[in-house]
Order: sequence, then C-alpha cells, then structure tokens
Amino acid sequence: MNPINKFTSSRLYNLLGSTRKARIISASALFLAVCAFGAAGVAPLAPDASDLPVTTIAQAIQLPDLSTQINALQQQEASQKYVHEEKIRAGDTLATLLNRLGVEDDAAEEFIKKDKTARAIMQLRSGKRVQAQTDENGNLLWLKATVVDGKDNPVKNILVTRTGDAFTAEEVAAKLERRVEMRAREITTTLYAATDSSSDGSSLPDSIVAQIIEMFSTNIDFRSDLKRGDRFNVVYETFWQDGEFVRAGRILAGEFTNKGTTYQSVWFEDPQTKSGGGYYSFDGKSLKKAFLKSPLEFSRISSGFGMRTHPIAGKWKQHKGTDFAAPTGTPIRAAGDGVIDFAGVQGGYGNVIVIKHWANYSTAYAHMSRFGTGMRKGAKVSQGDIIGYVGSTGWSTGAHLHYEFRVAGEAKDPNKMNITAQAPLTAAEMARFKTHAGEMIHRFALLRPNSSISNLAAK
Ligand SMILES: [Zn+2]
Repeated sequence: MNPINKFTSSRLYNLLGSTRKARIISASALFLAVCAFGAAGVAPLAPDASDLPVTTIAQAIQLPDLSTQINALQQQEASQKYVHEEKIRAGDTLATLLNRLGVEDDAAEEFIKKDKTARAIMQLRSGKRVQAQTDENGNLLWLKATVVDGKDNPVKNILVTRTGDAFTAEEVAAKLERRVEMRAREITTTLYAATDSSSDGSSLPDSIVAQIIEMFSTNIDFRSDLKRGDRFNVVYETFWQDGEFVRAGRILAGEFTNKGTTYQSVWFEDPQTKSGGGYYSFDGKSLKKAFLKSPLEFSRISSGFGMRTHPIAGKWKQHKGTDFAAPTGTPIRAAGDGVIDFAGVQGGYGNVIVIKHWANYSTAYAHMSRFGTGMRKGAKVSQGDIIGYVGSTGWSTGAHLHYEFRVAGEAKDPNKMNITAQAPLTAAEMARFKTHAGEMIHRFALLRPNSSISNLAAK
C-alpha cells in the first residue's frame, strides 16, 4: 500500500505535497492550508531542512481528479521522445512489462534476466515505477527503476544502458528528498480503518502504523482499549525520489487520546551532541524507562544472580549474571541503547558481546551461537535490536544466554538496579529539546478538530 503519485509535473507535486491520490486543491483552500502551518511555501524540503510541513490536512474537501488529463499530456510528451513510464502490475512478467514500455528487444530482455544487477528489476513489487527509452524500432536505449532493499537500507536506482549492441547495468545511489507530513485521525472502528481512511485521500504507510503501536503500546492495549472517538495526531518523515514515494521514515511526534487521556511523545536527538536519539515526553523525560528485563523475548531464568555450584567447575562460586534458558538460535536483543565495545570470543564466555551504555553502564551477552549482522566493535545499537543468537559456546552445558549487567565493569544484580536506559538530557540539551518540542506542540494544536484553522480548512 505504498502511495504512488502519478504526476511527473514538479509544480503539481509541490502543490499536492504528498497526498496519495491525485487531487487538485482549490486556490483558496491551498492558501488557507499554507497559512495554517505558517510555512513560507509548500515546496518539497531539501534533505535535512527544518521540519516544516509540506502536506496539509484537508479532510472534508472533495476534489476533482485530474489524473486522466495529466496522464494524457504525459503520454503525448513521452511518445515524442519514446520515453515510456509504467508501473509494475500484479502478475507482471518481464516480457509483459517490457511490452507495455514499448520495448521490442530480445537482447535487452535476455540481458535483464541474466545480469546480476539488472535482475533486481524483476523483483520489483507492483506499483513501482519503471522508465525506459527506446528508438523508433523498439530497441531499448535505457531503462531505469528504483529498488528499496528494506526499512533502513539505502535506496538505489538501477540503470540499464545500451552501448552499441551491448548492455550494461549499474547501481546508482538514490538522491532522496525528505518531507515531513502530518495526519490527524479519529477512531471510528479500528486503528487500521483509521489509518487507511481515505477521507483526505491519504493512508498512513504501514511502517508508520507499526511505529504508532510501538510508541503507545505501554499505555494503550490496541487490541482492547480503543474506543470510538479516540484520536491521534502524527508527524512523520517520508522520503521521495523524483516525486515518487520511496519509503516512510520515523515518527517525529505522536499524540494519542485514548478514553479521554492524551499520551504524547516526540523524537529528539540533540543536534549538537548527537546524544539522545529517542522518544521523550514533552517535558523532556526519556520514554525508555529502563533496560530490558530480559534480552530474550520468550525464556525462563534458569539461574539467577548470586551463589551457586558452578555446573562445570563443580564448586561454589559467585554467579555474576543471569542465565536464560532458550533454544539455540533464539534472538538476543540489546537491553538498552549503546555502542558495541566487544564482539568476539572471550574464554569461558565463548562468543560474547559487550555493549557500552550511557555513564558507566554496560551489558554482556555470552555463549552466543553467532552474532547478528553488522555487530562489531563500534557499531551503534538501539534497545531491542537483535545483536546475536543463543548458543552454547565457551564454558556452557547447554544452550542458554548468560547475561550480565555491569556498573563500572563490575557485574551487578540487574533486578536490584533501578536505572533508566538513557542518560537524562543535560541543561543545554534540555534547552534545545524545549524549542523542538514547542514546534511539535504547535503543530498538534493545529491538527486538533476544534482549532479554528481546521474548521476553516473543512469549509
Ligand atoms: Zn551464567
């Protein structure tokens, strides 16, 4: 359900921002919307620009659909240059796609099927855009498509070009444009119905819905707590290329009113110290309350912190950690945000990872069967990230995780510690946080149904 915009006219893109369906906003409505958010313009933002909204809420306005006309114009223009653009359809094969693109070129088809880089075009999901240029005989001159690897992976363009009778394929890094969007929704049936709502012609990306759930799940049970009339506002980033939605980024701020109680959260990473990097309440308290009690999702404690007979040495010895019994291969999660300080083999610990957290706190995860991808010294991890998998390496009698919580290098009983998983903001950071949070509070105020601006926009 990725929003795809059919327009290629950059002016229209600018006007329409990121609304999913092609709609034209009347001049007066647009004017109101622009004023409403105090933006100097609605042009797409340059990367890393300040978080001015480029999208507007115009929920109640019914707008005519001009996409047909624009498509016609587009086709007219394209046919002159033999540049075609198509979207992948469900059930498409390479042959049917090339056919629609006006490519009649067996050699090109063979090349795309066999070439390691070009082949990625065949993995594209439906709705994705592919462009190609041909000569008047249908011979392929070039073909371009964008591939998204996953949530955080870089997006790349694949470009197939002809040189004489031969083809080459290359990956070109995508230049993404960041936009900040805002949505306001009311729950009438389910959360998914609300996020799919087409009253303003724009659904929320799946990954944003997932983040909303994660953000508020400590306060709201989304399976049973939602009530008709609950509502939420969300400000999030999206990434675009040539006016095409590529992927959603992170929620910058969220506000959820459930049964009359409003929960709020704002993303903050200090622009100067680069610390923070998490969600906060609007008064600047980190919402990461504590280190994870268990680095495994499902497990049982087989041996707690304290004295016991060492299973291998056979004598009484202080057990400086907590053992969690779990099958080999069970994912192990980082107990808190931090940087990997050690990832390798260390005597009785076997494969072990040590994460350095804020202040002098660190955690260790021993006997792993293997490490998670990219888990090496210096790698940054967030709470909950998978860092490795349960095993029985080192001095171990069976698959389990030996987990240590250390203060200044000394193992402590994690159950006796009451430490927040994130450093509190310093005075200087707090000052910058307040400015940032203030902007988000202002935006939420604008999104509220009883604000004069929303009422105007709805007329
Ligand atoms: Zn142990």
